[in-house]
Amino acid sequence: MDFSHYSDEPVQMAVALINSIDVVTGDDKLQTPEDVGTFIDAWGSDWFDGDRRLSDSDLHEVRALRSRLREVFTATNEREAAASLNAVLQDVSATPRVSVHGKRPPHLHFEPEGGSPARWLGAVGAMGLTTALIEGGFERFGRCASTTCDDVFVDTSRNHSRLHCSDSCTTRESVAAYRRRQRAL
Ligand SMILES: [Zn+2]
Ligand SMILES: [Zn+2]
Repeated sequence: MDFSHYSDEPVQMAVALINSIDVVTGDDKLQTPEDVGTFIDAWGSDWFDGDRRLSDSDLHEVRALRSRLREVFTATNEREAAASLNAVLQDVSATPRVSVHGKRPPHLHFEPEGGSPARWLGAVGAMGLTTALIEGGFERFGRCASTTCDDVFVDTSRNHSRLHCSDSCTTRESVAAYRRRQRAL
C-alpha cells in the first residue's frame, strides 16, 4: 500500500497546526474562523473539498483537534501515541477510499468526503502523523529543547539528533550558551 500521499506535507501540516499556538506564551495564531480558512488555504488549497464558509464552531473544533494532536507528541511511549492517533482517526470518521484525482494513479485517501474543516484537518493530519510513526518510529516525535519554546517537530535527521523546533530556536539557544560560557570565563 502506498501511503506516500501522507508522508510529507500532511506531516508538516499537522506540526504547523499544533504549533499554531505557543503553549508557553499562549499566543494563538487561530483567533477567528478566517484564520482557520487561511491555514487550510496554505496547506490544502487544492485538496480540501469541504465547505469553506467557516463558523465559530469550526474554530472551536479545530482548536480542540489541535490539542488532541499535540498529545501524540506529549505521549510517553509509542503505545500512548498510537492510542491518541487512533482516537482522532475514529472521531473524524477517517475512511479509506480510492482517489483518482489529478494525474496520479489511483491511491488511498482517508478524509471523509465533504467533511468539516476539523474532520479534514484531523484525518489528513492524523494520517500524516500515523505514517510518520509507522515509518520513522516514536523517537522521531520531538519537542523543542529550548526553555522558552515547547513547539513540536518530527525529526527527519539521519541520526535523530534534532533538538529544536526551528533554526531560530537553535540559533537563539546557541547564542545563549555562548554567552553563558563567556560569563563563566
Ligand atoms: Zn490524493
Ligand atoms: Zn522552538
